[in-house]
Amino acid sequence: MDSSDSAQETPTVRLPDDWRTGRIEAVHDLAWRDLLDLVPGTAQALADLAAEQTGTTATGLARDTAVRFNGGCGSDLFLVCRECDADRAVIEIKGPQAAMNPNKDDIWQTAVYQDAYQADPALACGHFPGISPLFILLDARNRSRQAIEQKEGAYIPLSLDAWAVLTYEEVLTRAPFKDQPLARWLLACC
Ligand SMILES: [Zn+2]
Repeated sequence: MDSSDSAQETPTVRLPDDWRTGRIEAVHDLAWRDLLDLVPGTAQALADLAAEQTGTTATGLARDTAVRFNGGCGSDLFLVCRECDADRAVIEIKGPQAAMNPNKDDIWQTAVYQDAYQADPALACGHFPGISPLFILLDARNRSRQAIEQKEGAYIPLSLDAWAVLTYEEVLTRAPFKDQPLARWLLACC
């Protein structure tokens, strides 16, 4: 491949209906959606990395799934079972300017998700025998879980124990992500 190509490549991002210009976080969400939905093997590779960090296995987790926007704020990605429409993974993307977000009751969005699946296990797909859903947080600033908890949990305690926290760097620089134009764009963008 000609290395001079990369600067001119335009990421193939599909715009949502509510797209507003200038929202870098939204573009990151879209880029990840396209990567995970369109590039074969990426969703499974991400699940495998997350499972490795949380000490479990995710073999087959991405089989017969689709990647969707879902949930209250509409900006997080969900790996959804095609058969039952329930979730196998929640993927919270923290782009270059994103902060962890609490709701109006000062409960972190990450905890809101955990509580929701605990309260209603049917929200998670029962077709996958392992941990379901897998909670995955992707951080553009390449911070560790501890760094995020300390920095952002200064006023409201934040625990990401249930989450696999992965940096853009460690995901996007390995196969099957690396060499994808969108992966290069995401890495260069932050
Ligand atoms: Zn299912």
